[in-house]
Amino acid sequence: MNRNQIDLFVKDVHDMGIDLSTKQIDQFIAYYEMLIEWNKKMNLTAITDFEDVLKKHFVDSLSIAKIIDLSHCNSLIDIGTGAGFPGIPIKIAFPEIKVTLLDSLQKRIYFLDAVIEKLDLEKIETIHGRAEDYAKPGILRESFDLCVSRAVANLSSLSELCIPFVKTGGMFVAYKSEKAAEELEFAQNAFKCLHINQVECIQVILSDTYYKRNLIKISKEERTPSKYPRKSGMPIKQPL
Ligand code: SAM
Repeated sequence: MNRNQIDLFVKDVHDMGIDLSTKQIDQFIAYYEMLIEWNKKMNLTAITDFEDVLKKHFVDSLSIAKIIDLSHCNSLIDIGTGAGFPGIPIKIAFPEIKVTLLDSLQKRIYFLDAVIEKLDLEKIETIHGRAEDYAKPGILRESFDLCVSRAVANLSSLSELCIPFVKTGGMFVAYKSEKAAEELEFAQNAFKCLHINQVECIQVILSDTYYKRNLIKISKEERTPSKYPRKSGMPIKQPL
């Protein structure tokens, strides 16, 4: 970890329209240190080099700021957040957003709770559970301005898991690889079932030209039919 790497990170983030304060930079460094420490006892990330984490986890998580004005977002849920991506970097950079981190693996939730305490983050909660169960009628269904998810499932399955959490008028953003076009093709029936008509795929180039990210921006204009998501496991086993 050196000053040049941190300066480059601050510049990359600045290029996305985000100016980090000293407190926020310190929070990112503390998050990195915890990630490495806890990674020794549980599987959190295969990426551990400081510069790689800055680019492939932190800058990547914040890439959404290139396509959405997050200053207008009040509430966000991150489905299958794992070690906190993209939810925690977004929370650090935009502390005003009320963030919910949901994951089905309890150990990762323990880690996230420790990060929240260490970084002194406020207006953030963790939930241990499956998206299918929490997206059913209840307090979390259709109650977020924005839902985000990275590296959890194919776009068809993911849409069924994530779109029910979004308020009408809100948005779901899926972080996808270079296979985004293929996934979009495969997800067309899911969009129809979920009453989704507005889908846009935007490629953003991060840090330097070698690293690209496809963000799929899905606008929710109608309520999700109550039969979705189907029972636990079905969205992944049998995509719509
Ligand atoms: N989003 C993180 C990232 O990009 O680094 C973690 C990705 S990890 C490959 C996938 C995560 O999704 C795991 O932590 C797993 O426990 C969680 N997950 C998978 N299916 C889920 C479901 N149905 N509901 C909630 N979490 C789920």
